[in-house]
Amino acid sequence: MKAKHLTTFLLTVIFMVPAVHAENVNVCPEPASCEIVPSAYLPLKKVSLACDDQEALTWAKKHLKEWYGKQAPEVVAATRVIPTMDAEAYQLSVKENETQVTARTLQGVRYALYSLRQMAIPQRGTQKVEGWIVPQVTIKDHPGLSFRGIHICWFHETEPWEVERLIRLAAYYKLNYAVVESWGTFRSKSAPWYGWPDGTMTKKEIKRLKGIADDLGITLIPQINAFGHATASRGGAGKHSSLEFNPEYQPLFEPLNGWNWCLSNPEARKVLTSIIEEMHEAFGNPPYFHIGCDEANPPSCPDCKARPYSELFMEHIRAMNDVIVARGAKTMLWHDMLLQRGDERWKGFYANGTPETAAGFLKFPHDLVICDWYYDGAKDAYPTLDYFKSLGFNTLTCPWHNSSGTIAQGRYAYKAGIDGILGTTWHHFFGDNLVNIYFTLSNIAWNANSSFSQGGNFMTHLRQIGWDMKTKNPRHTGTYYDELPPEPFLNN
Ligand SMILES: [Zn+2]
Repeated sequence: MKAKHLTTFLLTVIFMVPAVHAENVNVCPEPASCEIVPSAYLPLKKVSLACDDQEALTWAKKHLKEWYGKQAPEVVAATRVIPTMDAEAYQLSVKENETQVTARTLQGVRYALYSLRQMAIPQRGTQKVEGWIVPQVTIKDHPGLSFRGIHICWFHETEPWEVERLIRLAAYYKLNYAVVESWGTFRSKSAPWYGWPDGTMTKKEIKRLKGIADDLGITLIPQINAFGHATASRGGAGKHSSLEFNPEYQPLFEPLNGWNWCLSNPEARKVLTSIIEEMHEAFGNPPYFHIGCDEANPPSCPDCKARPYSELFMEHIRAMNDVIVARGAKTMLWHDMLLQRGDERWKGFYANGTPETAAGFLKFPHDLVICDWYYDGAKDAYPTLDYFKSLGFNTLTCPWHNSSGTIAQGRYAYKAGIDGILGTTWHHFFGDNLVNIYFTLSNIAWNANSSFSQGGNFMTHLRQIGWDMKTKNPRHTGTYYDELPPEPFLNN
């Protein structure tokens, strides 16, 4: 073949055959399969929906109207045959006359329409939006991990709008669970002294957030700390959200800094039971409840010290689990007290337990979900994950803000048959941290083979959520409260 002919041939091939991943369509998480006709945009006038769930049509009409306003595409039910696909899977095909969405469930339809929203841009050439265009693309996608969660801290200074935005963003990036941890902010009726008196996690607020989460396809899971971290405040802050203003309740907590609940005081268990029941109900009886239980101290009161620690620990967790199981839910807890510190097997990983807690753990009921946290860079293997899995526990890998670690833990979860991923966020959840955690977590939760090169449109996505929330306060936009964030945040 002569050079000229070869060039013509190659050009023909390039332009005739749709290339896979040829162009960045900025869908986050990156779809499993995405075929795009390069540079071809088509008008978004009509969406035809093939779905087994009748609710999907109503949902699609409502949200397309919300997102695209007067220029929203028409939505029609299609009679196309729905191929065998996972419950959360979807297919999205942008064609000349219509955009086709195919999914078995409403959840699949949500995910298809989130992808569509991330790709659609306003028509060019006018001052104001007069219509929408979408790349000519065919996406076939399904989540790789069935549990895809984010852990959100609701501190005293956290405002409800922030929690709402984090939940909306998690749903938009196709995570399906958000653990919402009260750091002394839940307002309990049964124990009104529990937590800060002006905590903003009221039942009314929880109900409002749950309504939004349910609609967007994400389940909220409540969390309190039922062992260590009983201060419901960061250790370094030196605050105790219950005892600062209610010293009369000291017998419920261990004398050493009030850090642990007193496991031998039956009143402590009674209080925890009532708070768990109240909170679980306020969250609409979700399928999980997280009881924390990380970083506890050994017993420091005479009654606790008089009993075998291993027995005390095991009995307490069993009692908390019984309360949660009786409500039809599963107990989640952090892993570190279940592994003995200094045990060579966990070298390089997090183990805060004693020989007693590690032994007590072996008598735990097997319906617990172990949340195994690791926040450092990538490792070749994760023996702690293998250990919990080998004992028959449902196990989640829980990274934080180290992207290479998040990717390695996620990939290991696929390989080792771990049940899912729960990304944590903790402090300084601003700026790059906010962007990277959502981006990396959602990509690895969906796609073991993600290139991590798509989805550079985070600020637009955040802004779209601001539009949905009808945000009017400049502090509630962007990745920091202020234009110039305070010094410590600049590097975090
Ligand atoms: Zn005690």
